Amino acid sequence: MQLSYKPFQLNLKYPFTIAKFSRTYTPIMLIELHYEGFTGLGEASMVPYMGEDYESAAAFLKKIDWSKIAYPFNYDEIRKYLGGLSAGLPAIKAAVDIALHDLEGKLTGTPCYKFFESEKLLMPETSVTIGIDVPEIIAQKLSDAGPAKIIKVKLGRDNDRELINTIRSITDKPLFVDANQGWTDKYEALDKVQWLAAKNVALIEQPMDKTNFEDNKWITERSPIAIIGDEAVQRLEDVDKAAGIYHGINVKLMKSAGMHEAYLMIKRAKELNLKILIGCMSETSIATMAAAALAPLCDWADLDGPFLTSNNPFPNPGFENGKWLLPDVPGLGVPEI
Ligand code: MG
Repeated sequence: MQLSYKPFQLNLKYPFTIAKFSRTYTPIMLIELHYEGFTGLGEASMVPYMGEDYESAAAFLKKIDWSKIAYPFNYDEIRKYLGGLSAGLPAIKAAVDIALHDLEGKLTGTPCYKFFESEKLLMPETSVTIGIDVPEIIAQKLSDAGPAKIIKVKLGRDNDRELINTIRSITDKPLFVDANQGWTDKYEALDKVQWLAAKNVALIEQPMDKTNFEDNKWITERSPIAIIGDEAVQRLEDVDKAAGIYHGINVKLMKSAGMHEAYLMIKRAKELNLKILIGCMSETSIATMAAAALAPLCDWADLDGPFLTSNNPFPNPGFENGKWLLPDVPGLGVPEI
């Protein structure tokens, strides 16, 4: 197996701004695994708050002894091996895991979604996130998100109701809300949850601090709509902790270290009767299609990378009726460039 990798700056269509800090791109590590004339594509999306960067990614890749990752791939063993090389670093581990799945699909002539027994017909509609902005820009963003049938909004500030009212003056599409741990008083939070439920909001992510189990549980028990743990649920071992606290979990490949562990998280969540949202970071077509391969196993999808970025180096995946299309070609279905 031969590895090559290159850093890439994935530009955001709209700068991501919090207070004095503004981010215009996301650092991505693109990787390729070459084996028997086939190439597996992988990607690490390293949003700064998760603590990975080009240096940590390159250093991790250099640690891998590829003779330990023999075809046919044993993903449980590979997960253990990569996990043992360094603690954390789920994004670059995800890049390796995604590339291995793409490669295996190409070696066996299998579309990746079939490895997980995903049913194409069960693909959920995906939401597209609209960042907080002035009303005119919100209108522009909603129009950019035109093909999406669900809009996601990030709340958790003083102007939550104002923002929702602005959106509701432009569109009546169903909404997903992400509070990103921004609410600090459980009574006020529940008030907002009930107000949002009446505004055709389908789910709410992470209402309060991820370490505040008691208040998140209190809200979940009283909420008429699904309360989803995101920041509180990173890896497989977090799924059990979410049961009883949230109605569901947000699975992301860049948190779960790739497709294999994401699949294990989905299976465990189903055993625990937890709902599942599959989400993403700022990602190219590679990680978007890797998540889309698992999305039919989930209740909701929030896979909007290609909508929010301006220089995806790969062709955008097919999108129809508000859903990503899973092509019947070997691997992830992302053409090599
Ligand atoms: Mg979230």
